[in-house]
Amino acid sequence: MTKILIIEDEPFIRENLEDILSLEGFETLAATDGLVGIQLAQQALPDLIICDIMMPYGDGYDVITALREVPQTEAIPFIFLTAKADRASLRQGMTLGADDYLTKPFTPQEVLESVRARLRKATAQTQLYQSQIHHLSTELEFHRAHDALTGLPNRVALAACFQTLITRIRGTQQHLALLYFTFDQLASIRAALGSDLSVALVQQIGQRLTAASQGGGMAYISDHQFAMVMGPSPTLSQAQTWAEAVAQVFDAPITLEDHNLFLIPKIGVAIYPQDGVSFDTLLLEAEMAATGLPEQGDRPVSFYSTDLHQQVKYRFSMEADLHHALDRQEFQIYYQPQIDLKTQTLAGAEALMRWFHPVRGNISPAHFIPIAEATDLMVPIGEWVLRTACEQVQRWPHYPTNALISVNLSPRQFAAPDLRETITQVLAQTGLPPHRLELEITETVLMQDTSLAQHLLRDLKDSGIHIAIDDFGVGYSSFQYLSQFALSTLKIDRCFVHHLASRPKNQTLVAAMIQMAHDLGLKVVAEGVETEADLACLQSIECDIVQGYWYSPPLSAEAFEQGYAATPSATRQSLR
Ligand code: C2E
Ligand code: CA
Ligand code: CA
Repeated sequence: MTKILIIEDEPFIRENLEDILSLEGFETLAATDGLVGIQLAQQALPDLIICDIMMPYGDGYDVITALREVPQTEAIPFIFLTAKADRASLRQGMTLGADDYLTKPFTPQEVLESVRARLRKATAQTQLYQSQIHHLSTELEFHRAHDALTGLPNRVALAACFQTLITRIRGTQQHLALLYFTFDQLASIRAALGSDLSVALVQQIGQRLTAASQGGGMAYISDHQFAMVMGPSPTLSQAQTWAEAVAQVFDAPITLEDHNLFLIPKIGVAIYPQDGVSFDTLLLEAEMAATGLPEQGDRPVSFYSTDLHQQVKYRFSMEADLHHALDRQEFQIYYQPQIDLKTQTLAGAEALMRWFHPVRGNISPAHFIPIAEATDLMVPIGEWVLRTACEQVQRWPHYPTNALISVNLSPRQFAAPDLRETITQVLAQTGLPPHRLELEITETVLMQDTSLAQHLLRDLKDSGIHIAIDDFGVGYSSFQYLSQFALSTLKIDRCFVHHLASRPKNQTLVAAMIQMAHDLGLKVVAEGVETEADLACLQSIECDIVQGYWYSPPLSAEAFEQGYAATPSATRQSLR
């Protein structure tokens, strides 16, 4: 019921007002002077106040001044009642915040009209205020749960989504999978794309993940990290199968303007409730699982397990052992032949490191190179590879004089300030002519400091050294971008070459890559050729050189010499 406070010292007027208002269904309260009026207003918080001006113990101006100073009573509609209708006192009341004036004597109609008008206005104001508050809090809630730049849900939103799902499946046997995604190439791709396209790229990743979440949700966590809650799933194995399948979401490239971006995520998975019950724990476990994955490995999905702690310990001990591996001569270089498809002769060999650990045996470079790269070890190890490979070529008596030796250069090596000097020194010391050396770098290297890379590559190429772009197709892969650099060779990543013969889409793509590379004056090497069918396919689309198990796996220096560098000329049969 609407409550109206009447503050009036003259009993007749006060009672008259009470009658008028209660007859209309209002609840009335009455005060006989200003002081009582203020107290009553503060206690009862009426919906409207009608107040006389001339009263004992605090006049009407004192009342309105006191009430307008306190937030709770500040906005209560206030109508003055006065016999004084001179302009000055009207102005004074309005200045203090009165909403209307009623002059005595008044008719019931005048009172009710004024009261209703004030109440209507107050209601409208309250509604407006409430809708503004509602709007603001919705907005704040959105900001709290979304990334400001991309508008994608953030960690807070995903935690809430997880809680909702947990509540829904509590007491059942259902499972949720929490997935953590990291895209190693994303930081450098974004640097190359610029901010607008970067936002669009992240949004597209977000859309793909959302679509794959099987009713769960996704979050954009930071620069190159995403997370997803999948499920609920009725069985553990179903949750695992879903998580395994998520990697396929990135099989197709993301297209932005004229860029086709192939992204390879590393995915870590933790399952509720078997691996943990809290969102934070599961996310941490999923992240740990992803961290253990090798760089661009064949299996991009890794499940959390309790022995993951063991794996982290293993990594630390491997790092310690890596420090001594050079001194202890535990490294070797294997050589994988590269075959010229037109002439069927040896075009070159790629030097690939092997680490024969005294206890752990043969450790894959895919495992130890990232560790070396994360520490300062990569630079001295890389220099050793370069020197040893150059020396080796000089020692093979029948290695064709036009065949190259390809050496991988990691991003850290490329960024080392004395790289140019090291290369000059190694070539001088081993006597290998610069035009027989090829350095393989990845696009990531180019993106780190474009102008520095441009100068260095130009300088190297001018000296006769060949520069190959390794693992092309995975990541940024823009020909326009490549044309800015002095390059000689494009190595198409083996993920495009694998099963090429049975994948028409990849054939079109690889054919286009070859065509464009040729237009830029680059030679093309296809990596990972394993079957005759894939080889034939590459031949038909004019690939220049192939490398892969079909001809030979990487071989020790001795085995390579026997197979490829022992006789002056090799026929196709002998190459196979
Ligand atoms: P990468 O440079 O892409 O080298 C090609 C990898 O593909 C080699 O793996 C090679 O053994 C493998 N491979 C060759 N033919 C086939 C095939 O037909 N099928 C399949 N499935 N794989 C094939 P590997 O030797 O294990 O080396 C892995 C990666 O480690 C290399 O990839 C390279 O990134 C890195 N790496 C190896 N040696 C060095 C090095 O001396 N310096 C640096 N910076 N990185 C190195
Ligand atoms: Ca390589
Ligand atoms: Ca490669």
